[in-house]
Amino acid sequence: MTNHLFDRLFGLHATSDAPFLLLPDGDVFSYRDFLALSARMANVFADLGLEEGDRVAVQTGKSAQALAIYAACLRAGLVLLPLNTAYTPSELQYFIGDAEPGLVICDPGKQDAIASLLSQGTTLLTLDTQGAGSLMTRAQAASADQVPLPCGPDALAAILYTSGTTGRSKGAMLSHDNLLSNAQALADLWRFSDSDVLLHALPIFHTHGLFVAVNVVALTGGAMLFHPGFEINAIIEDLPRATALMGVPTFYTRLLDDDRFTKDLVAHMRLFVSGSAPLLAETHTEFESRTGHRILERYGMTETNMNVSNPYEGARRAGTVGFPLPGVDLRITDPETDEALPDGDIGMIEVRGPNVFKGYWRMPEKTAEELRENGFFITGDLGQIDAQGYLSIVGRQKDLIISGGYNIYPKEIEVLLDTLPGVGESAVVGVPDADFGEAVIAAVVPATGATPDPETLLEALRPQLARFKHPRAIHILDELPRNTMGKVQKNVLREAFTEKTA
Ligand code: ATP
Ligand code: MG
Repeated sequence: MTNHLFDRLFGLHATSDAPFLLLPDGDVFSYRDFLALSARMANVFADLGLEEGDRVAVQTGKSAQALAIYAACLRAGLVLLPLNTAYTPSELQYFIGDAEPGLVICDPGKQDAIASLLSQGTTLLTLDTQGAGSLMTRAQAASADQVPLPCGPDALAAILYTSGTTGRSKGAMLSHDNLLSNAQALADLWRFSDSDVLLHALPIFHTHGLFVAVNVVALTGGAMLFHPGFEINAIIEDLPRATALMGVPTFYTRLLDDDRFTKDLVAHMRLFVSGSAPLLAETHTEFESRTGHRILERYGMTETNMNVSNPYEGARRAGTVGFPLPGVDLRITDPETDEALPDGDIGMIEVRGPNVFKGYWRMPEKTAEELRENGFFITGDLGQIDAQGYLSIVGRQKDLIISGGYNIYPKEIEVLLDTLPGVGESAVVGVPDADFGEAVIAAVVPATGATPDPETLLEALRPQLARFKHPRAIHILDELPRNTMGKVQKNVLREAFTEKTA
């Protein structure tokens, strides 16, 4: 019997002494070490009485041991439920109540607060960032022999909660084949092999760091420089040892802000990938002129893993996310009629393929709203395909402003605002308006040391925008509200500005 995902990602390397995780303190976990640890953990889980399909919730700092829990869950047929380390115990109450895990693994510092949230029958174990805690005490005493449970392609591998940018996080049910098929497509497209060393500085509770990065590397037998987070000095120091980096746009802007980040430092690198949020075209261009490398931007989400990527060979086009991955069908539809639109038109991005999730955990109505019977998932993002087939993300449908019957895409105004003197960054939202339905309001965060005047900014915008797109007001803010994944929360701005205008 086989275990669909485990066998391909990890099982094949069980006796390999090749390095898998290169840790900041110089420790190295070979594939063999890593898999032996995961076998011990899987035996601990079985001894606790956990059974196939049970959930294991994990809220711990990033470490080799924390990653081994993922492989252990796959071995034992359990469903991994990674949780953002920034969630407070009161936020955790929702996730734990929703997912009803049989086991929770947390940092020792949160043990007491979390224990009070658990129902009888749920076990609580600890793991700290040094790889110590009650989970490890038990694992050390457990056998390193374990036969992975048989799991088919449709078995659940993980429930991954969305980032909660547009509302309450939803648990996306991801099967073994959702994850394997996507890892295969990406490894192929991005040319990963066992000679790659990925600089891994993303969190491992989110799809980008956990599934995109780890699965692609494990599938192809490469190694990861496993950083606890993005610390610029450590990153600059390790870049000479890496062949590839996967990051969010802020990784790239922070690198560009540092004089030590030079062409020579990264001349040997093979690939820089960006995703999770829009990469500004100017960052792409600046990166290329500094390093000679063109960042490869791709597009995905918790529910689907990756859908679209710029090409490895061929033009990586700034401001676009490229072409659908092999095996992924993508269409742009009219929000009013649900009909497919021709290339060039802006509409809802829908995707279908082996990567698309099985539905939201215990949310059948939400699942039915967003996952069509014909298999297309309505992503909630708006996009446009150009004449060469490149997809551009225009924004989220929930952020679209309709004023006086006209559609206004906030990004169009934000891009203009961002280029004005004194503007660091901006966000544009719609607030209810008795006459027009919605009115445009902008928030601006000043560039360092600048004090932009809202009226001057408005004057500069007016000649560039049709009248119905003119912001009614510009509010100067110290910072934009962001969620724990660093994504701008427009719903928070909408609420704040609705009160101000009411
Ligand atoms: P929630 O669904 O809970 O509101 P979320 O959509 O932010 O939160 P994620 O699944 O982490 O949660 O993020 C996926 C979203 O991130 C996509 O739907 C898209 O809006 C955005 N995104 C991802 N990659 C890109 C990209 N390259 N360019 C622009 N946006 C991107
Ligand atoms: Mg989403």
